[in-house]
Amino acid sequence: MYILAKALKDIGATHMYGLCGIPVTDLAYLVQEQGIRYVGFRFEQQAGMAAATHGYLTKKPGLLLTVSSLGFLNGLTATVNATVNCYPMIQISGSSARAPVDLNQGGYEDLDQFNVAKPLVKAAFRVNHACDIPLAVARAWRAAISGRPGGVYLDMVESCLGEIVNASDTKDWYFTPVDPCPAMIPAPEAVERAMKLLAGAKKPAILLGKGAAYAQIDEKIKAFIEKSGIPFFPMSMAKGLLPDDHPQSALSCRSTIMEHADVVMLVGARLNWLLSRGHGKWNPEGKFIQLDIDPDEMDCNRPIAAPVVGDLDSSISAMLAALPSCKLHMDPDWMPSLQAETAAKNKKFAERLQSHADDQPLTHFAALDAIKPILAENKDIILVNEGANTLDDTRDTIDQFLPRHRIDCATWAIMGMGLGSCIGAAMATGKKIVAILGDSAFGFTGMEMSTICRFKLPCTIIVFNNGGIYNGVGVNLAHNGDPAPTTLDIDAHYEKIGEAFGAAAWYVTTPAELKKALSESIASGKPGFIHVQLAANSGKESGHIGYLNPEALQHPKA
Ligand code: ADP
Ligand code: MG
Repeated sequence: MYILAKALKDIGATHMYGLCGIPVTDLAYLVQEQGIRYVGFRFEQQAGMAAATHGYLTKKPGLLLTVSSLGFLNGLTATVNATVNCYPMIQISGSSARAPVDLNQGGYEDLDQFNVAKPLVKAAFRVNHACDIPLAVARAWRAAISGRPGGVYLDMVESCLGEIVNASDTKDWYFTPVDPCPAMIPAPEAVERAMKLLAGAKKPAILLGKGAAYAQIDEKIKAFIEKSGIPFFPMSMAKGLLPDDHPQSALSCRSTIMEHADVVMLVGARLNWLLSRGHGKWNPEGKFIQLDIDPDEMDCNRPIAAPVVGDLDSSISAMLAALPSCKLHMDPDWMPSLQAETAAKNKKFAERLQSHADDQPLTHFAALDAIKPILAENKDIILVNEGANTLDDTRDTIDQFLPRHRIDCATWAIMGMGLGSCIGAAMATGKKIVAILGDSAFGFTGMEMSTICRFKLPCTIIVFNNGGIYNGVGVNLAHNGDPAPTTLDIDAHYEKIGEAFGAAAWYVTTPAELKKALSESIASGKPGFIHVQLAANSGKESGHIGYLNPEALQHPKA
């Protein structure tokens, strides 16, 4: 175990998120002794969300420690989710003795964890001998951060964790991997092809994804966009890469870009369901340039006319170098028309928000109208956001001004990343965090208030309680007195969960109370919890993606 702790320290690990038990309890102590901060959680999945968020924000693998069997499985969901999101993390799990597992003899917490994990993660390694530990750590580290980042599983067999060796024998086992995340330079002809296509475009657009935010090349992306003068559209977690109020932001013109752009340059963004997989509203004549580190991503949904495969730093640098000698043919009306549309849409949205400001009981928009100016004054706060309506309405309302300051449920649109992500973000950056969560989303992660308070993290957790999944007015079709499937707890006092662990807590029902509570909580730099009481009928099914929920009922659900 000492060898593993030391190998992790040597390779540069600074934090480990986990939940102790057989057979990894001593490992957590040894990791802590090495000076790696060990953050003990109440649920492995949330520790995994923290590790994944840590990886996303730092470009170093976040570490998750889990026990065998159920602990491993609980954590694995987060490791798989990280793989889908292209976040680098390593789940290190103890696993029970191999022989009884292989003979199916009913050993303690027996499960063939390695083979369970393998098809679902970017890479998996099983370590049987202590002498292989430093090598396995190096391989896992490389696999997590190089190429397309992802989740890696490191299976630490109990016998290996407990192996006793002579310290003098171990010296040759340690090594420092050379260049664990190598640059991947795009082919010059690929860059040339892309620049040529971009130059000929009349209505080009640049679409930024969370891969672009992850790459931490903010200045180069800004330079390319500003020097080219091309409008950009950020995907949700790329919001803030350039400020949402940037003059070239086409954030409010998503449909126009889809319908009218003739060349779209995807930068660290996949043409997946979040972009209608390139179909639907998209201009069928439009052409795509795609900058991505993964060659397999090309032609995934639409043919990519100009694939640029490489790491974004190298690819954007090459395109930036080619820009001065490239004559663009952008239609002079294109940017101004998008700006006019942006101004009109923003005005309309502001009026809509304003029209809800006095809603009583509060609605999502009334609450967000109160929160918006406070977050605009505190631009360096990282916003964590999940829910259905709470997710959509917050994303639409709250502007982002800085890169990697918005963390949400990402590619799989999952529920249950909130508090774990707050903890990972706070640990990785030392910044203040505000989470805006729906009451349903909060239910998946709420117990981690314990962790936030134990580590005294500057996190303010805001729960929008509309009493249910989507909303709190579901109807029980049997009329037998049971709550409807989507109905939760409209009369709950979630702030008491914060209070239970020592957070400052507020129950608010008006915009003025909400503003006061949020300002005080942020200023304190301590854990805070704000229960925002909404109307039970605020919100609609699945927020903006209700069309994905197949309809079977003749009866109205709410
Ligand atoms: P979004 O959901 O914001 O559209 P996605 O997660 O779909 O973003 O896409 C991110 C893309 O970025 C992935 O295809 C991934 O391979 C790519 N990517 C991640 N890191 C890098 C990097 N350093 N260089 C190039 N591409 C990267
Ligand atoms: Mg709800």
